[in-house]
Amino acid sequence: MSAPLSILQKVSDELLNRPCILCGQPCLGPTDICAPCQIDLPWHQSGCLRCGLSLPNNTTHCGHCLTQKLYFDHCLCAFDYQFPVDKLILSFKNNEKLIYGKVLAHLFADRLKGHPSLPDRLIPVPIHWITRRLRGFNQSDLISTDLGRRLAIPVINRACKRTRQTQQQKSLNLVDRRKNVGNAFEANIRLDHLHIGVVDDVVTSMATTNSLSRALKKAGAEKITILCLARAPLP
Ligand SMILES: [Zn+2]
Ligand SMILES: [Zn+2]
Repeated sequence: MSAPLSILQKVSDELLNRPCILCGQPCLGPTDICAPCQIDLPWHQSGCLRCGLSLPNNTTHCGHCLTQKLYFDHCLCAFDYQFPVDKLILSFKNNEKLIYGKVLAHLFADRLKGHPSLPDRLIPVPIHWITRRLRGFNQSDLISTDLGRRLAIPVINRACKRTRQTQQQKSLNLVDRRKNVGNAFEANIRLDHLHIGVVDDVVTSMATTNSLSRALKKAGAEKITILCLARAPLP
């Protein structure tokens, strides 16, 4: 009996003593970021009630949400796109540090647990097949899988497609971002009466998620909540 117990002890010691990916100290918890480092993360505080953009006190909506035609209903974000979350997300996407995406999704799922209005289904923001081929994966697929498993929400991976390759949004201003992704998506299935969670890694202008939301509403979705790891300020 002592051998299996010692193996269990070893496994549990190794799990508890995993080094924190930020400071290198033992984690002593279920995620790969230790408790003190978690406290120091740039957790997203309340912002615009529609798009989550950080706003001065006593302001409920940002100017863009008051003037633009929007197809999503809410945006829930885990973090502000600041150090060290920005570095973790870039390494996740560009250097295949998949564990970083997993850790951030785990923390986000913990934050979402108990939310009064979680979606019925999750749909990752699709990337064009050329980008996918170059990167090797779609980061939003991986985040959706982790969120879906932890929150017991089914993920629909092939609900929609990008109908054309768009320019990199980060090189464009706000107006051009909207033009760039306008009508860039098409739904493959009906989503009647469903509350859909659109999953993305980072949102900035919301042009991409709004364009996708438009296609999903056209396919019958009743309500759309954007779920993103990090909220960046407007360009
Ligand atoms: Zn740490
Ligand atoms: Zn807003």
